Amino acid sequence: MRQISRRSFFKFCGISAATLGLGPLDIAGLGKALANPAGPTVLWLQGAGCTGCSISFLNYISPTAPTDAADVLINHINLAYHPNLSPVAGESAAAVIQQVRDAGNFVLVVEGGVPTGFNGAACFAWTVGGVDVTFQEAILDLTPRAAAVLCIGACSCFGGIPAAVPNPTGVFSVRTLTGRPTINIAGCPPHPNWMVYAVVQLLQGNSISLDSYGRPTAIYSKKIHETCPLKGTGEINTFGVPNRCLKQLGCRGPETHANCHLQKWNNGVNWCVGAGAPCNGCTSPTFPGTNRLNRQPA
Ligand code: SF4
Ligand code: SF4
Repeated sequence: MRQISRRSFFKFCGISAATLGLGPLDIAGLGKALANPAGPTVLWLQGAGCTGCSISFLNYISPTAPTDAADVLINHINLAYHPNLSPVAGESAAAVIQQVRDAGNFVLVVEGGVPTGFNGAACFAWTVGGVDVTFQEAILDLTPRAAAVLCIGACSCFGGIPAAVPNPTGVFSVRTLTGRPTINIAGCPPHPNWMVYAVVQLLQGNSISLDSYGRPTAIYSKKIHETCPLKGTGEINTFGVPNRCLKQLGCRGPETHANCHLQKWNNGVNWCVGAGAPCNGCTSPTFPGTNRLNRQPA
């Protein structure tokens, strides 16, 4: 886990403060807002992943409240810690996390898989008193104390790309590692609406109906193929032919549960199949095709 400033993060993401709806006063007040005790406390941790889920979340835009990522962060939750967004780092961050841990009743958001190889030393979460804490240790310690565990993205939900064979760092999903129930917002990355849906349900105290893989049924109950606008248009076997079914080109829509073809991405601009790329099943437990979902850590 590395620490960069909020400004660097927005620049790195190609997302400006204005895009996020953050004016100068918002930027100045963000650190204060993150410390606002009014909302439910959220700890957001990152393990073996690419930070793409955080980037996807920051692209959230909606005509109704919460209207964007800044609205979620500033007005709706008490984000105690996020590796990229928080104003604290190093041992100061570890102290904040310790306070939240001891107080309990927090929402633990996990982005990225959990490396177990090398005694977990492939990924450190933070350092306390000069002693490195592995991400594996952090997850095993925090999950039993959390009121809810929200896994964001394929890696924390199912292992994802970091757990693909040969998986040299022994990455596992949070649920496989801990054996604890998790709310799995699957996708590589998940659609921002899917993440905010789960956050809003937790904010409102609603129970979330989950499928056998821990995914909210409100999002993942139907296969993409069932209502794909290209269904019945005739299958093509070469790329570059617009508006034709991509099944023979490896489209995994027939086995993939998601509603991205209805919501579309980038604020409703387009989606994978609509752009001529077969669905690669990024919301499926088996994504990217060969992982160790059902194997337990040694
Ligand atoms: S493009 Fe994919 S999801 Fe759409 S109809 Fe063809 S196989 Fe199904
Ligand atoms: S179309 Fe398939 S690969 Fe693309 S975002 Fe949706 S589930 Fe993932």
